[in-house]
Amino acid sequence: MNKNLKQDTLCVQAGYSPKSGEARIPPIVQSTTYAYEKTQDMADLFDLKSDGYFYSRLANPTVAAFEGKVAALEKGACAIGCSSGMSATALTVMCVAGAGDNIISSSAIYGGSYNLFSVTLPKLGIECRFFDPDAPAEEIEKLIDGKTKLIFTETIANPSIVVLDFEKFAKISKKHGVLFVVDNTLATPILCRPAEWGANIVVHSSSKYLDGHAAALGGIIVDIGNFNFKGNPRYRSFNEPDESYHGLVYADLPVAFGTKCRAQMIRDLGAIMSPQNGFLSYIGCDTLALRMERHSKNAKKIAEYLSKHPKIEWIKHPSLKGDKYYATAQKYLPDGQGGMMSFGIRGDVEKCAKFMESLKLITQETHVADVRSCVLHPASTTHRQLSEEDLKAAGVPHNLVRLSVGIENADDLIADLAQALDKV
Ligand code: PLP
Repeated sequence: MNKNLKQDTLCVQAGYSPKSGEARIPPIVQSTTYAYEKTQDMADLFDLKSDGYFYSRLANPTVAAFEGKVAALEKGACAIGCSSGMSATALTVMCVAGAGDNIISSSAIYGGSYNLFSVTLPKLGIECRFFDPDAPAEEIEKLIDGKTKLIFTETIANPSIVVLDFEKFAKISKKHGVLFVVDNTLATPILCRPAEWGANIVVHSSSKYLDGHAAALGGIIVDIGNFNFKGNPRYRSFNEPDESYHGLVYADLPVAFGTKCRAQMIRDLGAIMSPQNGFLSYIGCDTLALRMERHSKNAKKIAEYLSKHPKIEWIKHPSLKGDKYYATAQKYLPDGQGGMMSFGIRGDVEKCAKFMESLKLITQETHVADVRSCVLHPASTTHRQLSEEDLKAAGVPHNLVRLSVGIENADDLIADLAQALDKV
C-alpha cells in the first residue's frame, strides 16, 4: 500500500488487499491453527525466516488486517492486536522492563493504567515514578536513572483532558535514550500522529474510537520502528541472545520492539486479539476519519453551549479558546480536538445525579468514545473508593461529569442537555 495515501483513504483501504476472486473484506479466520504439507515450511515460520501463520495465539489473518490498517494510520513499522487496551499497555511495559527496573509516567492517565502502574506492576518488581505532565522538563528528567525503561503519556488524557506537549517529551526521550510511549486512544491517528512528534511506541484501547461502536474490546501496540536499541546499555534484553528464541538478538532486527513483543510477550502471556474482534475493529476503522470529524465538531458546539450555561461552573474541552490546553491542541490536534469533555455542575453530588438521571438521549455508561453519547459521574462510580483528599489529587471534584460526545445531531444533544439542566 502506498504510504503517501491520505489518512481517510488509509482508513478504508489499508491492511487488506484481496487477490482476484477473494472476499472484498477480510474473512473472519476463526481457526486456532493452520495446516502445512512440509515440515520445513513450519520450521521456517518458527525461526521467523518466513511470514505466515501457525497458531492464532501468535498471529491470525483477520487480526493482521486490523494490525496493518492501524500501523499504516500511525506511520508505524508494525502493529500487534491485543485482547484489550489494558493488555496493550501491560505488554508494552513488560517487553522492556523487569524486576528492579522502573518506568516514568504522566499522572494524568486513564485510571486503569494508573492502577496497573501504581499497584500491579510494583508487585512484579517494576516501579513507576509519576510526574505532572505540565511540569518543566528538568523536573521530569530528575526521575530518570539507569534503570528507567520508558516514558508513558496520553495524547488527550482520560478523564482530565490534558493535551500532551509532545516536543517536551521527545526531547527528554532523545537526550536520555529512553523509549517514548504514547497512548493515543482519545485522539486517534486521525487527529494526531505521535510518530510525527517523536514517539517510539503508540498504544490504543481499540475498544474506543478505533472500533467506534462499543462492539469489540481490544487494544493495539504500534512499533514506529524509530528507536535504536542496538548497543544501548539501558536495553540489555534487546542486546543479549534470547535463550527462549534460539538465541535471537532483537536489537539486530529491523523491527526490534515489535518482534520481541510478539515473539516473546504475546507468545508467553497470550493476550492476543480474537479474530471476531479483529474483524469488527477493522471494519470500524473504515469510518474513523468521518467519525472523528463529527465527534470533534459536535463536541466543540456542545462545549461552547455549556460554557455559557448558568448551571455549569466550569468546563474543559481543548476547542474552547479559554481552555488551558487550547494553544497546545492547536499545535498537535489542529483538525479537531475529539469528543471527550468534562464539566462541573453548580452544586453537590445530588444535583449531578439529578442532571444525569434526567438525560433522555445521552446514557450513563462506563465507556467513552463510541458513536453514542454517554456520561459518567466519576466521584460516585470509577473513583468512589477515593477519599476526599485522593479525589482532589486525581483532579476529580465531586461535581465533575464526563461527557463523551457521539455522532448524533448536535442540536438534539444540546436539547437533551438543556432539558436535564432545567431539572437541576
Ligand atoms: N487507555 C485509555 C486512554 C482508556 O480510556 C482506556 C479505557 O477506557 C484504556 C487505555 C484501557 O482500555 P480497555 O478498556 O480496552 O482495556
